[in-house]
This record gives sequence, structure tokens and C-alpha cells, in this order.
Amino acid sequence: ETKDEGIPSDIMKKTMEHPCYNCAGHQFARIHLPVAPSCNVQCNYCVRKYDCPNESRPGVTSTILTPEEALARYIAVKERMPNLTVVGIAGPGDSLAGNYADTKKTLELIRSYDKDVTFCLSTNGLMLPFYAEELVQLGVTHVTVTMNAVDPKISGKIYKYINYMGNRFEGDAAGAIMVSNQLSGLKILLAHGVICKVNIVTLKGINESHIPAVVQTCKDMGCYITNIMQLIPVPGSAFESLPMVSNKDILNLRNECNKIMKQMFHCKQCRADAVGTLDNDMSVDLAGFLAPKEA
Ligand code: SF4
Ligand code: SF4
Repeated sequence: ETKDEGIPSDIMKKTMEHPCYNCAGHQFARIHLPVAPSCNVQCNYCVRKYDCPNESRPGVTSTILTPEEALARYIAVKERMPNLTVVGIAGPGDSLAGNYADTKKTLELIRSYDKDVTFCLSTNGLMLPFYAEELVQLGVTHVTVTMNAVDPKISGKIYKYINYMGNRFEGDAAGAIMVSNQLSGLKILLAHGVICKVNIVTLKGINESHIPAVVQTCKDMGCYITNIMQLIPVPGSAFESLPMVSNKDILNLRNECNKIMKQMFHCKQCRADAVGTLDNDMSVDLAGFLAPKEA
């Protein structure tokens, strides 16, 4: 069951040509521009010398670009990749944390060059209520929020701490702030017609049995799709010894939640500098030279 009714045709076209919002979009390419290195929270499964595992493959480090370098990369790739439909900002930290000005500048530069390309952004959601309306004005039509719980007590177990409005919060307080900002940020976006995806990282013994409740909340709010992901433990993180949930368990969870709302079955846990179709990730240098990616 999908929420496709009521979505304007131009936004629906962008959604059908976005490889992450429907399985049929696999011939279309996306480019992640790694312009946002800093983060405002510490997830217990994250080591910050690597890309944000909320949207990325763990253990991979992307080279940060300035907004001007990001524009140059976009132009070079677009000239060589006509099926490129989506620009995404997916870290390698949080796109709305300390480097938000660079996220914004990157989108402005690209929009002045290309008025049609779809803008997609992923975030942990902490600052979303503050920036949601500005994102709409910047032309962002697709947003992913990683929301691993809707119960503050469960959410609080997932963050070592969060930095918010000049203070550091931990435990239940951190969880309460995260959940309320994730939900209110999503509600603002949804009220403006933004297509919202929620990523849920499956954490054995922590949020596993709570995931259908997260998905139900997303469905009730009007989100478009949820993406139940596997945690790939990163050495050195607080959750490094958390047992991995098997592929079979993830598939079972996705199938169970598919009865509630549309599920993503094809997430590749891409790098923050991924370029190409989901099946064929490319490396790209600043001259726009494309080559198959090794990592
Ligand atoms: Fe790491 Fe991403 Fe969590 Fe920030 S939001 S701590 S980058 S996993
Ligand atoms: Fe799409 Fe998943 Fe890759 Fe994000 S990590 S770009 S949702 S396939």
C-alpha cells in the first residue's frame, strides 16, 4: 500500500526517477556530495572518522568537498552521465549540523546551474524543525530521517549524547529531544508536500521488536517509505559487540512491515560520495573522470 494518491505529478515523476524511493528507479543515477563532515550527536554505533552509517556503508571515509568543488563535480558528472537525476547530501556527518551553511550553499550553487535536478538530503533529524521550511525553499523535495525509535527511552539508549542549543544531553533526555524533533521536523516537511523516507537501523536487543511501532508512526504521519537497515558493527564504536541481525531477520522484518507501508528492499548502504546507479557505484575525480569504485 502506498501514499501515491495526492502527490502532484511533478513530484511523483521525481520520485519514480529516484533510485532510493522505488525499486523501479534502478536505471537512474544519484550523486552524493560529501560537503557536511560535522555531527551534532554521537550514535553508539558510529565512529566519526568514517562516514555516517545512518545512510552509508560503515568503515568508509569520503574526502570532503567545498560547495564550489561539489558544483564542479556535479557539472562534470552530469555531462558524462545523462541518467543522473538526483543530488543527495548524506554527510559524511549530518547535513544539518555545524556545516549546514555548506549544505545550503551547495544546493544553491547547483540549483543556479540546473533547475530540474532532484534535491535529496538525509539527516539524524535533530535540527530538522529549524531548517525544514528553508529546505523546502531551497527546492529539496526528498528527505530521509534516520529514526530508530519513537519511544524516548529506546531512542535514549542509541545516542551516547546529543549537542543541542549549547547543551549536552544523554539518556532519556537525549531520546526525548531526538524523537520530538524528528517527528516535528517530518511533520513540517510533510505539510509542505516533501516526500519523506525514514531509515531505521536494526539494533538487536534495543529496538528490534519496536520497529513495527516506528513504521506505524511513519505511516500515520504520511511518510512515503521506510528503510529497515542492518547494523554493520564498526570496531571502536560503543555497539561494536552488538550481535548482527541476519539478512533473513531483516527480510522478515521488512516483509512484516510491508503490511503497514511501502518498504525499501534494495538499499545498498552507499558511501557519502557515491556516484552512479545503485548497482554500479563509480569513483569520480575533480576533472569528472569516472571509474568503477573499489571499496
Ligand atoms: Fe555518526 Fe551519523 Fe550518528 Fe552523526 S548521525 S553520530 S555521523 S551515525
Ligand atoms: Fe539509497 Fe540506501 Fe544508498 Fe541511501 S544508502 S542512497 S537509501 S541505496
